[in-house]
Amino acid sequence: MLEDMIEFRGKEPGPTSVILGGVHGNETCGVEAIRNILPNLAIEKGRVFIGYGNPRAIAANQRFTEANLNRMFKPDDQLSQREKESYEYGRAQFLKTYLNQADALLDIHASRVQHSRRFVICEDNGLPTAKYLPADLVVSGLDAVQPGGTDYYMNSIGKIGVCIECGYLGDPESTDMAVKSIFSFLATRGHVTRETSSREQSRLQVFYMYVTKSSSFSLAKPFEDFETLREGQLIGQDGIEEIHAPRDCVILFSGNRQKAGDEAFLLGTYKTTT
Ligand SMILES: [Zn+2]
Repeated sequence: MLEDMIEFRGKEPGPTSVILGGVHGNETCGVEAIRNILPNLAIEKGRVFIGYGNPRAIAANQRFTEANLNRMFKPDDQLSQREKESYEYGRAQFLKTYLNQADALLDIHASRVQHSRRFVICEDNGLPTAKYLPADLVVSGLDAVQPGGTDYYMNSIGKIGVCIECGYLGDPESTDMAVKSIFSFLATRGHVTRETSSREQSRLQVFYMYVTKSSSFSLAKPFEDFETLREGQLIGQDGIEEIHAPRDCVILFSGNRQKAGDEAFLLGTYKTTT
């Protein structure tokens, strides 16, 4: 298992970027895409660091081993002692040494929900990069409601953090999507010469993340990512409490949970402008 970041250096000066796959170990598309392209990759300008986010979780084909790596990038005072003693916390510190050198990050993910759309996650500073990635939807607002990811960290230090969600993690096409995303990102950042075209993207603003209060959260039904909810619609049951949609919105990243304090779903609304 590749533990280190691989550095590619172009002949000409240019920006520095980081590309990560497998920050969640069971989202194999980024890991496979990186494995496929590493042997023949050539960079013309600047520096690119490429590697795996969470090698232990990848080896175990699990989302994480001790703590969600993609929440370990918060300031230390927002992490618990248990989190700070985890393998993932240490891994985050290692990855930060590369993120700190970079101007921009592409982090490759996949959804646990079947039939999930492909989409980009970024804040406004990432939109000029996002519009060249192969997805028709950009989701924003995660930094505020679900802080601690790699992209959150980059944004918090004045850099550009962009995640690509390549569809359902069990869909073999997600690897092709990851490969396309890597080359689009490299071209957009000026590391390679390659024709790219921007696309119209709809935008969704996430406004809420539900965290479970009991050890038994079950959805009223399985929701697809971006399924529309009406105001008041029953989303699920957390212990004895019924959870309803606070307004008309869409749901994503939802699932049944068996632990208090788990992230159970996100809610968002579409923006009218592109
Ligand atoms: Zn992920």
